[in-house]
Amino acid sequence: MTERKMYINGQWMGSISGKATALRSPATGKVIGEIASGGREEARLAITAAHEAFAEWAATPARERAAYMQKVVQLMHENKAELAHMISLEMGKPIREARGEVDIAADYVQWNAEEAKRIYGDLIPSNAKHKRILVLRQPVGVTAAITPWNFPLSMVTRKMAPAIAAGCTVILKPAKQTPGSAVMFFELLEKAGLPRGVANLVLGNASEIGAEFISNPLVKKITFTGSTEIGKQLLSQAAHQVKRVSMELGGHAPFIVFPDADLEKAVDGLIASKFRNSGQTCICTNRLYVHSTIVESFASLLKEKVQAMVMGNGLLEEVELGPIVDQIGLQKVDEQVRDAVGKGATVLCGGSIRKEGEFSNGNFFEPTILLDVDDTMQVVREETFGPVVPILPFETEEEVLQKANDTTFGLAAYFYTQDLGRTIRMYEKLEYGIIGANDPVPTTVQAPFGGYKESGLGREGGYHGLEGFLEIKYVSLGF
Ligand code: NAP
Repeated sequence: MTERKMYINGQWMGSISGKATALRSPATGKVIGEIASGGREEARLAITAAHEAFAEWAATPARERAAYMQKVVQLMHENKAELAHMISLEMGKPIREARGEVDIAADYVQWNAEEAKRIYGDLIPSNAKHKRILVLRQPVGVTAAITPWNFPLSMVTRKMAPAIAAGCTVILKPAKQTPGSAVMFFELLEKAGLPRGVANLVLGNASEIGAEFISNPLVKKITFTGSTEIGKQLLSQAAHQVKRVSMELGGHAPFIVFPDADLEKAVDGLIASKFRNSGQTCICTNRLYVHSTIVESFASLLKEKVQAMVMGNGLLEEVELGPIVDQIGLQKVDEQVRDAVGKGATVLCGGSIRKEGEFSNGNFFEPTILLDVDDTMQVVREETFGPVVPILPFETEEEVLQKANDTTFGLAAYFYTQDLGRTIRMYEKLEYGIIGANDPVPTTVQAPFGGYKESGLGREGGYHGLEGFLEIKYVSLGF
């Protein structure tokens, strides 16, 4: 059985204790490998390696850092099929989506390799004749990155690429469900000849590894993507050493359809936003608001299209909806649907866990549309992370804006309208970091990705993403 090992200071290693735990496919329940069970000790070794490599890497000319990264991009494209297969195998997403993830993951490396060469400083006019004001941007230092399972490769490169481009050294801890994609990425870093210690991979006990990241003074920056609960915990702990932090946390996206929207495009947009990765992305639609005059026609077209979707093992080419990543996630989706039905919601289609035949050992939930939904239901108040659409009718723009903003989350929001004035009013008033105006798939490497409110702190992507790995130094130069 293949063991997903750690990569520390340029060496592959199992856990010091020799322990490893089994990994299971979310589609078939079969064992697909093992993951080394590292902990505090391994995290400490990785931090030391990253610290020792930092001065040399920070002093390496940006052009050379970029050249290593360009080599990694080339290797990612050459190994696209294998990377996509691993993503789909371990987290269950449809293979076509997995191929798309490899492309964007490589794009993050490419974009940041280019940006590495454009980390400029400033020369500011002084009030004094014999002074000059210089502003430098320097790498923040050893960076600890913690990533979730839903994008096992692109979340890794979205953090590691800007860090490495900026001249930081990194320790990555990927999610326990999806270490294989990270391991393959590190194999490519090794092949590209990245100097030892610049990038390190630790696997295993999250709270032990997290505790070492937080308490070790050699770590200067924590970049985390995951649940709001763990993010808040890390944020408060990081305050003790005033470590730099970036947080990409949970979402609860509203999707609003106005009566002047192109109905067909809005339905297709909703499907793209809601059912991608079986609803398991932080920017997936969670609440659908449809104007009361079109709610019936919208719901019936949506039902027709949703019922035609093919569910199954993501490794099969024709599959459009894969499994939920694990049993805990599956139970959460089921609980939210049961809670809604118990409070009076009507199931237009789906509504249950699938258990028959090919679905018997996997974590499959039927694509589900709920009507007669209200604000007391969990599915309208909490992040679902599953293929469930609650439909809420609305009457006015003011009413729907108030409802859309009535949450502690603020990651992504979507709306469909053909009215320019309304478009401007909506994108200005929605309290969200990412707005899809007639666009269900806003994520791209050039743009700043991140949340308002409790959905996060800082931005990833674009030149904004690189800023998070740089400190500003002001030099007042007298002569
Ligand atoms: P999670 O439980 O918070 O896990 C995320 C990562 O944190 C995993 O690597 C996990 O390790 C690690 N972790 C868990 N406990 C920790 C601790 N005490 N100290 C340090 N690290 C710890 O989140 P999840 O359920 O896997 O991921 C889904 C969440 O991520 C959703 O809420 C989603 O919205 C959010 N997300 C946000 C974005 C964004 O950009 N805003 C993108 C994707 C996902 P283990 O796996 O080993 O437990």
